[in-house]
Amino acid sequence: MRILVANDDGIYSPGILALAEAAQTFGEVRIVAPDVEQSSMGHAITHARPLTYRRTQIGDFEAWRVNGTPADCVALGAYQWKDVDVVLSGINLGPNLGNSIWHSGTLAAAKQAALLGMQGIAFSTPAADAKPEFDVLQPFVARVLTMLLGDRALPLVNVNLPDRPRGLRWTWQSVRHYDGAVVPGEHPQGREHFWFIVKPIEEVEEGSDRWAVQNGYVSMTPLRLDLTSEEALAEARLRHREPPDESD
Ligand code: MN
Repeated sequence: MRILVANDDGIYSPGILALAEAAQTFGEVRIVAPDVEQSSMGHAITHARPLTYRRTQIGDFEAWRVNGTPADCVALGAYQWKDVDVVLSGINLGPNLGNSIWHSGTLAAAKQAALLGMQGIAFSTPAADAKPEFDVLQPFVARVLTMLLGDRALPLVNVNLPDRPRGLRWTWQSVRHYDGAVVPGEHPQGREHFWFIVKPIEEVEEGSDRWAVQNGYVSMTPLRLDLTSEEALAEARLRHREPPDESD
């Protein structure tokens, strides 16, 4: 099995080495990741300037650094290394729960894999205070990989690991609470400026991704690429008749 490992924290993040190490018993591993941090870049691609693909060494792994986004890395990595089966992204230093997955570059790398017909799995963990204990997390990453790898019914999965996992849970994406907030501040020269920050969310709904991680479980959320709301589409067809076609 060919396993491409990417991230959005940059190729020199300790999280990507931890993920590659956990993955190596499952197949052949190659790392392709951004040369600098690309967190919160979402699914951006680089279309107006050329991309470079440069060799580097991460642990004992063959690794390539790209001057682009996480999605660029997956597209270029899969172009350079044929027949990639799965793309693993992470382990992100910071959770990707609920609405934050709309902004996540970590998840975007996995989404790019799914768009290209490969399996994509994103891994994230809280890292607010200290460097995560990757040796504690790696056995849980391995358990997740044992379950998910090669399962065609699960082309895209978002995984979040708490500091000290006590089990695994299937979850749904919590979107009721939005954790983004604009906070005004003042530039040293007196001008007003703004921060777009992540604000902590306390409330959780049982069974959601956020609930699982707050309760010490590894959260696994299966996702899909098709954003169509089937419910709203059916409702729209009933309530808003499509206007007649223009006659020739
Ligand atoms: Mn990140």
